[in-house]
Amino acid sequence: MQFSDFGLDNSLMSTVEHLGFSAPTQIQQQAIPAAMAGHDLIASSKTGSGKTLAFILPAIQRLTKNRALSKRDPRVVILTPTRELAKQVFSQLRLFTANTQFKAVLILGGENFNDQVKVLEKEPEFIVATPGRLADHLKQGHFYLNGLELLILDEADRMLDLGFSKELTQINNAADHRKRQTLLFSATLDHAQVNDFAKELLKKPKRVAIESAHTEHEDITKRFFLADNLSQKEVLLQHFLTTETSRQIIIFTATRSDTDRLAKLLTEQELNAVALSGELNQSQRNQIMDSFAKGQHKILVTTDLASRGLDLINVSHVINFDMPKHTEEFVHRIGRTGRAGTKGDAISLVGPNDWLSFKNVEAFLQQKISFAKVDGIKVKFKGLKPKKEKVVKAKVTVVKDNKAVSNKPRKVIKKTFLDIEDAGAMKIIKRKKLTPDQIEDSTKKEQD
Ligand code: ADP
Ligand code: MG
Repeated sequence: MQFSDFGLDNSLMSTVEHLGFSAPTQIQQQAIPAAMAGHDLIASSKTGSGKTLAFILPAIQRLTKNRALSKRDPRVVILTPTRELAKQVFSQLRLFTANTQFKAVLILGGENFNDQVKVLEKEPEFIVATPGRLADHLKQGHFYLNGLELLILDEADRMLDLGFSKELTQINNAADHRKRQTLLFSATLDHAQVNDFAKELLKKPKRVAIESAHTEHEDITKRFFLADNLSQKEVLLQHFLTTETSRQIIIFTATRSDTDRLAKLLTEQELNAVALSGELNQSQRNQIMDSFAKGQHKILVTTDLASRGLDLINVSHVINFDMPKHTEEFVHRIGRTGRAGTKGDAISLVGPNDWLSFKNVEAFLQQKISFAKVDGIKVKFKGLKPKKEKVVKAKVTVVKDNKAVSNKPRKVIKKTFLDIEDAGAMKIIKRKKLTPDQIEDSTKKEQD
């Protein structure tokens, strides 16, 4: 299949050719025609497979072919979970809008609010934004969404993980009309939270899934190493940094303070490392990303802030210094390498604190993972045994319509706090000693 088979507008087609894209990737082959036909989409494909173009092209095509519903309102809004990704999508979009009459603007948190008000007054057709800041402008009436034709959520699941569902709902409600089309993109879209949200946002969506997120990414070689503790992780890291043949490297840590500590440690060892974390101001963040993208630093130490979407073609290695707490982020972190058909290496260090996260990743990838060893580094840690759940005799209160309907002692698994199970229309509340107040409290909590 060729780009010319999509029936894209001539000038858009010549931009595609001019930019050197020869054949559409699989996700582009499926998502572009479906989006051009006007369907809402839930589209997933592996990291680095060209999802950005799969939504940019149909968006520009729609604007070129259709008359605007409103002269003033934006026609396309693209939302991403992080400012860095929004910037990247914006610069991709600009390459394609450069030869059109369409204006595109970028609205990010952390940047000057009043400047953005002025930018919005110019009535751009495209807005690329992070959800929090865009929702602020919407609330204050700096733009309206009655004319919105396309709402695109890139890395949709991550926006929900980060707690942006309220903002997304506000934006959705402000653009609630029949002609609105909605596209959801990510490498990981098959969890329940996304499904529930998709029901709220999308109309009869088509699902385009090239391969499941659990499928092996054939361009990324994964290796896992056990480590006894933090200092042994540092020894292992040192080993990889000196022995692996690499171009650029992204190291992921669990917390912001870990990024700083580790980057400092590497700098002391005269390795060219910088730390990117959410606590920096926006101009520092921009400067770090720009210089890393230009190849001025060899190593970027960061958190899951940089796990999604970033397309840095020179990254040959991803190192998980700590395993991610959100299981899906594993797929996204390692997907910072092995992009657009290139090969990449992913190294993960697993210490006692990572064990639970590691087991979750193993379950997610649906494979038994074995550990590699480094000659000369002796590791005692062999993994943790699963804890046996303790069974105790306890009073079990069965509640229906907020009333306790039975209160018999039974054998249950001991948990430290209240445990609520859904049993059809009933809620079963297990606890050793449960007062009527506690029953009320717990049902209330569920209803919230
Ligand atoms: P994803 O969003 O799926 O992770 P991106 O949209 O960031 O992937 O694209 C990854 C890389 O692939 C980018 O550098 C992009 O320019 C490149 N790319 C996209 N489409 C094509 C194509 N049809 N042919 C070759 N390279 C492509
Ligand atoms: Mg992407």
